[in-house]
Amino acid sequence: MARADDAASRGGAHIGDSPGPYRPARGGTFFDVDFDRSPFTVAWEITRACALACIHCRASAIPRRSASELTTEEGIDLIDQIVALGTPILVVTGGDPLMRDDVYDLLEHASGRGLRVALSPSATGRLTRPALERIKATGAQMLHLSLDGSSADVHDRFRGVHGSFDRTLARARDAVELGFVLQVGTTVSRHNVHDLEAIAERVAAARVNVWTLFFLVPTGRAQAEDMLDPLEHERVFHWLREYGRGAPFHVRTIAAQHYRRVVIEAERPDRAHQGDAPPRWEYTGTGFSASVRAGGSAMRGVNDGNGFCFVGHTGEVCPSGFLPIVAGNVRGQPLAEIYRDSSLFRALRDPTRLKGKCGACEYRAVCGGSRARAHAVTGDFLASDPSCAYVPTGHPKPAGVGELHSDTRRA
Ligand code: SF4
Repeated sequence: MARADDAASRGGAHIGDSPGPYRPARGGTFFDVDFDRSPFTVAWEITRACALACIHCRASAIPRRSASELTTEEGIDLIDQIVALGTPILVVTGGDPLMRDDVYDLLEHASGRGLRVALSPSATGRLTRPALERIKATGAQMLHLSLDGSSADVHDRFRGVHGSFDRTLARARDAVELGFVLQVGTTVSRHNVHDLEAIAERVAAARVNVWTLFFLVPTGRAQAEDMLDPLEHERVFHWLREYGRGAPFHVRTIAAQHYRRVVIEAERPDRAHQGDAPPRWEYTGTGFSASVRAGGSAMRGVNDGNGFCFVGHTGEVCPSGFLPIVAGNVRGQPLAEIYRDSSLFRALRDPTRLKGKCGACEYRAVCGGSRARAHAVTGDFLASDPSCAYVPTGHPKPAGVGELHSDTRRA
């Protein structure tokens, strides 16, 4: 049965915003992870090369590999550093990771060191069934495929290549047969918001484990005008929560931290039958609801740089792939030092640094808004997430922004 949750990424694929069906290694629980010490997910963009030309590509992918990419040896060293961070999930992403011939060696090394490994390939001619079999043989457990429309017409337009839709569905069938934990990711934008229910039906028919919705952040080739407005976000969140309760897959969201607020408002037992009085407590940020947790889905405040980090193809370390501010480079500094001690990452883990509505919000510790979207739209990574319609208690109503009225908070 599906569980509706968010938490915060593919850093280029942003698998790992939320715990989803995964649990930390070594017998711990998601709640045991100290995000000041260890990220829940590390995404590594092993190359920017890709044969597709997606209109919303975070990486602004390029046709050929860069000579500056981390080498195989540097990649092996990076994997060992990630292991030392506390065995987070490793998401191997791109570009198209299959553009690197040594991808299988890297995957095998990561799995052999005990990491739970997810691969996010592009649906190109390189992604064949034999390639999937080889990936599975490395020990990689999870596969992420992208589906941005319920038909070839919508999806292929997004991806910029004819035939991508059919290949994606074929490889999804193969992945299920081969025993991968299969995630299908959909970038939600004005191009396909009308198509979400039909996409969900496709996802169900493909028997995927997790449907991940990436709410568009205007970075790379993605355009601000393609982003949903605040009330559109709100409407999709309410639909998603309802849909996810009966869906045969787990639902996750990326760059939609405020989805947590919608779920909290709807599912807190002490809120469910109250009037419209806003909540008056401050969440701790390490889970919020026993009832949700008992359902098997933790609601922890993973966000850019807070439980998540991204390593780019040349070794630069950023809070996520959607927040391209470089805090250091693994070629000159240990990953752990950058993640734990850089001023950028430390600021992102401190909810008291948030500004505007997010800084005043009851939900700032468990939500905090998308730091990536705040940066992309305003230039300030600590500003309010401009896609949130919520007006915190006692905060003045912002001019010109759709307001979330109390009677819609628990629609
Ligand atoms: S105002 Fe900010 S912290 Fe509050 S719910 Fe919206 S995005 Fe989250």
